[in-house]
Amino acid sequence: MDSYRHKGLRQKLIDSIRTKGIRHEEVLEAMNRVPRHIFMDSSFINFSYTDKAFPIAAGQTISQPYTVAFQTELLDVKRHMKVLEVGTGSGYQTAVLLELGARVFTIERQRELFLRAQKTLGELNYHAKFFYGDGYEGLPAFAPFDRILVTAAAPEVPEKLLEQLAVGGILVLPEGDRFGQKMIRVVRTSEADHTRTEHGYFSFVPLLRGKNQSHD
Ligand code: SAH
Repeated sequence: MDSYRHKGLRQKLIDSIRTKGIRHEEVLEAMNRVPRHIFMDSSFINFSYTDKAFPIAAGQTISQPYTVAFQTELLDVKRHMKVLEVGTGSGYQTAVLLELGARVFTIERQRELFLRAQKTLGELNYHAKFFYGDGYEGLPAFAPFDRILVTAAAPEVPEKLLEQLAVGGILVLPEGDRFGQKMIRVVRTSEADHTRTEHGYFSFVPLLRGKNQSHD
């Protein structure tokens, strides 16, 4: 499944991401352990180790590796932390969070992707908690979360997600419309307060409301 050829290509990809400015070696090492090709659609499998986003099912995309590294670095995950991921997609980012030792709760609104990601991650022996639902709602029953990572573009930070962030916790989200977003990092400094910083421009598929049985 994961050949020497794949490992070699992956190492090169990781080296190129490092030269693009990712500094956390733990993040790069975690990504070096995840076989991205297993998460790709078969038509794009030969491009698994290029630094690009690709289509997956239901009109969605697997994020560009640099973007995964960038968001994961901003999230600053430590072992055993409880992490909420909104937008499971292919499950690739989920695997990277698991490689960092996080306990991952991940939500997807597209039924097809929700099912597929569980299968892919299960076959690779990765264990996350999967939810089919609307990430705008978060998972109140499992809150608070030490970290919240949103991998789809939202017009603003959803209030419910902020409420489910632990004090001292960090939330990372691309904020904007479908034409482009700013990467936002929110730190919850107390029950009532948070700070917010901006970290450059990105392009994600939109965070949509409600859950979906088929394509949008
Ligand atoms: N982390 C993914 C990126 C997938 S793209 C990966 O590594 O492959 C973003 C995903 O967010 C899509 O699968 C999309 O269906 C999902 N999404 C969009 N709006 C959502 C919502 N409200 N709740 C949960 N998932 C959502």
